[in-house]
Amino acid sequence: MEKSLLLGCPVCGTKLDIGNMKTRLEIVCNNFWGKKFCFCSKNCKRHFFEDPKIAYFSMEIGITNDIPTYSGGLGVLAGDIVKASADLKLQMVAITLVSRKGYFKQKITNEGEQQESPNSWDPSKRLFRVPKTTTITLEGRSVEIQAWLYEHRSQNGGLIPILFLDTDIESNAPEDRRITDFLYGGDKKYRLKQEIILGIGGTRILEALSFKISKYHMNEGQSALLTLELLNKNNLNSEKVQNQCVFTTHTPIEAAFDQFPYQLFQELLGNQFMLSTVKQYAGQDNLNMTYLALNLSKYVNGVSKAHMNYSKKIFPGHHIRSVTNGVHSFTWTCCFFRELYDKYIPSWANEPVLLVRASEIPSLEIWNAHMKAKKILFDYIKNTTSTSLDPNILTIGFARRATGYKRSTLIFSRIQKLLEINNRGKIQIVFAGKAHPRDVEGKQLIKKIFQYAQELKDQIKIIYIENYDMQIASKLTSGVDVWLNTPIPPLEASGTSGMKAAHNGVINFSVLDGWWIEGCIEGITGWGIGPHPSELVSVEERRKRELNDLYSKLEYLIVPTYYKNRDAWITLMKNSIAKLAYYFQTQRVLKRYITEAYLL
Ligand SMILES: *Cc1c(COP(=O)(O)O)cnc(C)c1O
Repeated sequence: MEKSLLLGCPVCGTKLDIGNMKTRLEIVCNNFWGKKFCFCSKNCKRHFFEDPKIAYFSMEIGITNDIPTYSGGLGVLAGDIVKASADLKLQMVAITLVSRKGYFKQKITNEGEQQESPNSWDPSKRLFRVPKTTTITLEGRSVEIQAWLYEHRSQNGGLIPILFLDTDIESNAPEDRRITDFLYGGDKKYRLKQEIILGIGGTRILEALSFKISKYHMNEGQSALLTLELLNKNNLNSEKVQNQCVFTTHTPIEAAFDQFPYQLFQELLGNQFMLSTVKQYAGQDNLNMTYLALNLSKYVNGVSKAHMNYSKKIFPGHHIRSVTNGVHSFTWTCCFFRELYDKYIPSWANEPVLLVRASEIPSLEIWNAHMKAKKILFDYIKNTTSTSLDPNILTIGFARRATGYKRSTLIFSRIQKLLEINNRGKIQIVFAGKAHPRDVEGKQLIKKIFQYAQELKDQIKIIYIENYDMQIASKLTSGVDVWLNTPIPPLEASGTSGMKAAHNGVINFSVLDGWWIEGCIEGITGWGIGPHPSELVSVEERRKRELNDLYSKLEYLIVPTYYKNRDAWITLMKNSIAKLAYYFQTQRVLKRYITEAYLL
């Protein structure tokens, strides 16, 4: 049977059973974007092609592991938002860059030196090339932009198209063909060109493909130039543009905002956009992408309550809400827990709030599922690093981008203490994470971890898994016992890997920052490290209390509970699922966006 029929109706999910006379009579198929789509009825076809959609713009989208167009949390979140939209059968289209060379592939030498190589992929092997293009003038040259279509299908049939923008077309000048190669590679000029393609090119390609758009949702500021295109289309009526724009900020410090000199902006775009207008919204001195998005969006949100509070301080006078991030439950639940939830909480994947009932799952089955996930991770470690880890030892996981504020080496602050704890009950630690090629400090941290691993090798096994990606994230957040996070507050705007851990009954042990301020119920859903942000303490005092909590909770709570009170441990696991996973998931996030931003 034809593939498009087998997949069900992309709007309502109804099976397109051509054996059934009734449905067969009503099935309608149509070519669109150069591709054939089949629907259960005329009505659904009309919804798909004529209803205005939400356009979700993100510099990176991590939708599946074999499309390496993401670098970390921002892209994975974007992918999870798309997946939840498909579950909820929302009419959305997502726009990103094709990043043909990916972010990068990471190798690490025995000395802990990170080596980078391009993570090339071929969109033609994986995606469908849409036969329409659009153009933009850059440095006086016309640059043609094409789009590759990926259709994300939810388990229940919903379909979201993702457009991957690409300038690697023969008609373009050689240097313009390289614009959409490297995610976060190159200099400021390269980066601004990419953001022009994403924001302005993205808006134009949607128009070329006759999409009707009700809202433009900017996931972080890199796509903010779309507001300029909308201003031009709306005779510079800023209110009209604001009504169409939604902005999610992810950055809690001003220094990290994306900014460009106006000279560069003019060098690339000439007078296509009036400079005085741009300055009015994006700042007088520099083109500040965060300001641009902020000033031209009616709805603006931070990604946790704490992050909203910091953002309000940075942007006085702006109304900023908070929608705390989530993860896509089905994606981030490992197969053994999926089986368990299917058995005890049917339809949990369609409706993850049902995970609130996890306390009813028998403890032994929770433990067995966990041990199976642990084995998958340990087998992977054995195959890739030739190190055997003992599954009966308490295993701590730490994996995220290797960068200064994440403080991956904080746990090694007092080695003697760590060894004492290890004598009371053995521990082992698994790390992973890439440092941005130009992040010297981040690379130094990886090296440090290798040195500690060497120094402690006779007592504590410390593993560093290379080339952290979604697949490894999935193995790690289900296969360790404790998920550690020790960022410097308030720099973790939300954080999401701990939410993945919670979906698999892995216990969070984290600094009270980002989502964990909302998730942590001390001793019930996991444990907190350091003071609550409402306590105003000095930097030194904070660090002292962080180290105190880190070591004393490991020694007196975590290690003894794990080894001597397995029932209490499994209760914590169930609480992680029932009190954290049920809430920190992207269907909840999407429902908030729909009622507060998209229907606004
Ligand atoms: C989930 C995920 C992240 C984000 O992790 P944080 O703890 O939020 O920093 C980064 N990289 C990958 C590959 C992920 O899957």
